[in-house]
Amino acid sequence: KAKETGKGRYMVFSPSFLQTFNDRVNVEKYLREAIKKEEFVLHYQPQVSLKTGKIVGFESLIRWNSPVLGLVSPLSFVKVAEDSRLIVPIGEWVLLRSCSFAKGLHDQGIGDYKISVNISVVQLVQDEFVDMVIRILDETGLNPIYLELEITESIIIESFDIVIPKLEFMKRLGVQIALDDFGTGYSSLSYLQQMPITTLKIDRTFIEQVPIEEDKRSLARAIVLIGRRMGLVVVAEGVETRRQLDYVKQAKCDVIQGYLISKPLKDEEAIDLIHSQRVFDI
Ligand code: C2E
Ligand code: MG
Ligand code: MG
Ligand code: MG
Repeated sequence: KAKETGKGRYMVFSPSFLQTFNDRVNVEKYLREAIKKEEFVLHYQPQVSLKTGKIVGFESLIRWNSPVLGLVSPLSFVKVAEDSRLIVPIGEWVLLRSCSFAKGLHDQGIGDYKISVNISVVQLVQDEFVDMVIRILDETGLNPIYLELEITESIIIESFDIVIPKLEFMKRLGVQIALDDFGTGYSSLSYLQQMPITTLKIDRTFIEQVPIEEDKRSLARAIVLIGRRMGLVVVAEGVETRRQLDYVKQAKCDVIQGYLISKPLKDEEAIDLIHSQRVFDI
């Protein structure tokens, strides 16, 4: 804990705080350099239709290839990037790269796949957010119907009035809006109804429990039902086993994503997978 002394001219920190503080400052410093040196990479995880067994799109997931820290998971740096607002330039880079990747696939005649991009609330509340998305769609030439923005429930509830009109605008452009990690936040069903979303991603924790907990299983089934009734595309994330697949299929999910299909792939690997024209046995 920091303690103010005198007239707040300097701060006294406890050793444990200093430790954490230094770590954060260091990560922040490295992140700043990482932006300049383009140390970030995107991996793409396929999403497969449960109707056809074919890939319908990819979620782009950031990794940080740090010369100091090695390959760093977004779970370790996205929060720091949000707190320091570095997520704004990083997120813009992610969006640009993701749209270019999808447009590249379209242009090479490889296929018209959708690209899903995770968006942080820190980006979304920026005045320039909508203009930035439009500019990137324009620059890359990607048809907006192939872009999906993934946002979390907490994002929307924290800044409902600022965020909803922006999402509505994006949706009118044809951009898809997915509610990510659904079921882990605090939103009530009445919120859900007011959100301009097109896709519901059921959180992995519900899928994980499939073979074990009957309660969670019923919950997962109820969520799918609600999503479908609302006319949303329902995606099950984190499907790892055949049993989970059978379950979400029976529950009438539309799309699955998870290690059973594939882990997130480097771009060449993703392109190879598409070229193989694989139809998954679902
Ligand atoms: P998310 O958006 O919910 O992404 C799904 C996460 O689940 C990914 O972790 C993915 O690799 C992992 N996953 C996929 N299938 C399975 C599975 O079958 N089993 C298990 N155990 N895990 C699976 P990842 O790549 O580590 O990303 C973690 C989180 O970091 C993401 O969760 C998202 O919230 C955030 N994130 C990733 N990339 C970005 C980004 O570009 N911008 C922002 N703002 N956040 C990002
Ligand atoms: Mg996501
Ligand atoms: Mg998710
Ligand atoms: Mg998740």
